[in-house]
Amino acid sequence: MTQREWADKDYYADLGVSKSASLDEIKKAYRKLARENHPDKNPGNKVAEDKFKRISEAYSVVGDEDKRREYDELRAALAGGFRFPGAGGSGGAGAAGRRGFDFDVSDLFGGGTGFGGTAGGAGGLGDFLGGFVNRNGGAGGAGRQKARRGADVETEITLDFREAAQGVTIPLQLTNPSPCTNCNGSGAAPGTSPVTCTTCQGSGYVKEQKGAFGFSSPCSDCGAQGTRIENPCSQCNGTGVTTRRRTITVRVPAGVVDGQKVRLAGQGEAGLRGRPAGDLFVTVHVRPDEVFTRSGNDLEVTVPVSFGELALGGTITVPTLGDKIRVRVPAGTADGRTLRVRGRGIPKRNGTPGDLLVTVRVKVPTNLDDNATSALRSYVEAERASGFNPREGWAGAK
Ligand SMILES: [Zn+2]
Ligand SMILES: [Zn+2]
Repeated sequence: MTQREWADKDYYADLGVSKSASLDEIKKAYRKLARENHPDKNPGNKVAEDKFKRISEAYSVVGDEDKRREYDELRAALAGGFRFPGAGGSGGAGAAGRRGFDFDVSDLFGGGTGFGGTAGGAGGLGDFLGGFVNRNGGAGGAGRQKARRGADVETEITLDFREAAQGVTIPLQLTNPSPCTNCNGSGAAPGTSPVTCTTCQGSGYVKEQKGAFGFSSPCSDCGAQGTRIENPCSQCNGTGVTTRRRTITVRVPAGVVDGQKVRLAGQGEAGLRGRPAGDLFVTVHVRPDEVFTRSGNDLEVTVPVSFGELALGGTITVPTLGDKIRVRVPAGTADGRTLRVRGRGIPKRNGTPGDLLVTVRVKVPTNLDDNATSALRSYVEAERASGFNPREGWAGAK
């Protein structure tokens, strides 16, 4: 996505709020729309899916104080006649363009303490926006100067069905560039500090005038860092970054589905010399379960029963995610019928769980002993004598 495309979007309209809405109002509007259009609630509904992506993206920007300010400023600049350098406004496409769309489950499931620390979304906007807004008109440098933030990292995890359904906290081992422990990421040898660059007075940019517009370009003397290191740290050669193995703890919220991509803000590669880290994107795979399947937040289980249990009724023992429960089967229950047990399914974001759907399936005996065989014969005779005909009313019998 280019700056132009980004600025042309009306995130406020997507969320149905006014431009002056408070963060609280925006959050409420987003949550309501996200609930209504959530893929779990609208399986196969393309319209709802698109809407869900749009509102998630909108919220990732205007739901974040800093990004919202940048967005507002960029739109105000456009309204005031600012033009992007380069044809068609494609000049500023930075990091945001290279990644597809992801939404942040933390806000849908857990309220931000687990996956992802921020209200995320189309991630990486801050990357190229920083070049535009913070440098006060310096959009010319936005596309070239990308080393402001560490790179994003992608990884995968595989969970058991029950872990995904109930939520789980797991350690995740990562080997990637992390802040150097010797210099705390500064790049300067312990006991020394980076000194301010005299060429750019620490801004990292030098100003030049082109026609009516003032542009900034990266300072070449300090590599746009704003500071210079006179005594580089020996461990990281002054970069502030070393590659090492580290373990982070990830709290996966209950109800995560197979293939879901989630974002952990700031857990990607460390930025050079103390710059912010990139994000970590984790694709979650879920192993199927021997007993359960799921449909949205409903947990499904098929229980084998005998014909007698269905005809006479009774109670059967049924597994759940927790303890086993007893479920009453009414007399005369049809084979294949599904009984709903409220509240024994998969936890939802608002705390109320989905339901357990118990399907009963008759298991026909194949090795009956003499006693059971003769009893069954007498039963079939008695059944016939009582007037029961299984094919009565069946169109195929005409
Ligand atoms: Zn170091
Ligand atoms: Zn400089």
